[in-house]
Amino acid sequence: MYSMCSILFCYIIAVLLILKKFGNIISMKCNNKTKFIFVTGGVVSSLGKGIVSASIGALLKSRGLNISVLKLDPYLNIDPGTMNPFQHGEVFVTDDGAETDLDLGHYERYISVKLNCLNSKSAGQIYLNVLEKERQGKYLGETVQVIPHITDEIKNSIYLAGEKCNILICEVGGTVGDIESLPFIEAIRQIRQKEGIKSVFFIHVSYLPYIDTAGEVKTKPTQHSVKALLGLGIQPDLLLLRSKNKISNEIKSKISLFCNVPLTAVANCPDLATIYEAPLILRNEHVDQLILEHLNIESIDSDLAEWKNVVWKFKHPKKKINIGIVGKYVNFTESYKSVNEALIHAGIHLNTRIIFHYIDAENIKNEEIEKNLKILDGILVPGGFGERGINGKIASVKFARENLIPYFGICLGLQIAVIEFSINCAHIINATSEEFDPKAKNLVIHYIKNQQKITRKGGTMRLGSYPCAIMENTMAYDIYRQKLIFERHRHRYEINNDYRDKLVSAGLIFSGFSPDKNLIEIIELKEHPFFLACQFHPEFLSNPLNPHPIFKRFIKESINHNEKRQLIY
Ligand code: GLN
Repeated sequence: MYSMCSILFCYIIAVLLILKKFGNIISMKCNNKTKFIFVTGGVVSSLGKGIVSASIGALLKSRGLNISVLKLDPYLNIDPGTMNPFQHGEVFVTDDGAETDLDLGHYERYISVKLNCLNSKSAGQIYLNVLEKERQGKYLGETVQVIPHITDEIKNSIYLAGEKCNILICEVGGTVGDIESLPFIEAIRQIRQKEGIKSVFFIHVSYLPYIDTAGEVKTKPTQHSVKALLGLGIQPDLLLLRSKNKISNEIKSKISLFCNVPLTAVANCPDLATIYEAPLILRNEHVDQLILEHLNIESIDSDLAEWKNVVWKFKHPKKKINIGIVGKYVNFTESYKSVNEALIHAGIHLNTRIIFHYIDAENIKNEEIEKNLKILDGILVPGGFGERGINGKIASVKFARENLIPYFGICLGLQIAVIEFSINCAHIINATSEEFDPKAKNLVIHYIKNQQKITRKGGTMRLGSYPCAIMENTMAYDIYRQKLIFERHRHRYEINNDYRDKLVSAGLIFSGFSPDKNLIEIIELKEHPFFLACQFHPEFLSNPLNPHPIFKRFIKESINHNEKRQLIY
């Protein structure tokens, strides 16, 4: 009887403890009060603030919290869609068709969330909204000013993005001290003031340069950057120090003392073999624990097993293959960020290290093509705009098709494949795209209906997620194993339906269509190990824990090609 009672007692206590734990989480999830993490950057740009924010998101998500992210960009473009990829890098497209900063790609890949236009705001958009309201008379009688009108608009965007989550991670683009990011910094200062210390956490990401001649890392730029931040009313709750190599505790103590943050709030993230190791490093530095303690949030524990597996597989590949990316922006590979990452994801999944060969399409000479492309196990032509380098891309597709090298075309890569096939297989003389030569006779690629009427260039392409019907008994079907899929688009041109019959009779397979069959979305070839191209951008939906199926098949066939090549040479 006595032991029955004690078992019952223990049971009740255990149930109460579990209820308390989940009760805390649930009550936190239900009390609607979003907490905020603001990430600023100091010293230099390109510190990987996006990866840091995304990794913190991954850590907090793994603890059962509902996370969303907002990127604030200080430039005056409404979105990066009208910028040169050489300057800005890739334009990431969300399901709802927003053209956004490439950091949104990191957030989606690490946190496995679907973001939208609320998750990316530029100063241009903020000013546009304010000026629109001014014209509508919403501020009648007032003098419209940066403070409070612009800062209020920024705060509205932050609250809107944080509406449905437990924690909003908000990354402020640029570097502290820039003139253009001042209104953003002021807005986040005001949010801390309003919401209180326990609801807001400030992270400042800074850089510790290693000076060869002194043989040590230097902390002074970080000290100045924190001082600049303090001058704007923000005391960081965590300093996240990027460095080439791991820094010593001595350096951490020095920074703690001079930057007025506790030693426990100085974390280090050195350069890593793979960016997917960042969540593990930040966990080791107790970053998520510190945030949760500060924000007074109880959460479940997680061992990050999936991330550990990704990192282990990346570091212990069984094979290496050579993938050629034939494009225009090859000197600035940030322009192909999601494509690069999607290839890496598939490689990790198949225990294979991808060796990237960025090939400038403009420099491809027909006489040298064999020498340059023969070493490749797979060739990919990614998205792009304009006619520069087109001939080199066509020559690469021809080489891949004739030599049975796996070929994967994405968006422009599909259009190039259709042009190449039209010229060399369907014998359509001088076949081209309306984009490159609008007056040409055989426009096998032409404007999507209504696109030629468009005069405003910003945000007017065919953008965002659209359904695609997959034809059975095709490679596309074998890859997706579904009749209807959704993929993201960003283009103005499409395959001209007047040429469908000619292309089909010459052997081209159309394996994916818009559900009304008006737009061709996927093409492939039969007598080829992998010749597949799509009008959409599958790279946007790949993540390390769930690589995209087309990328997986492309890499699998490239591995096969590599093995065959080893046998021949
Ligand atoms: N320039 C082509 C178009 O607008 C392809 C675009 C792309 O590759 N994203 O249709």
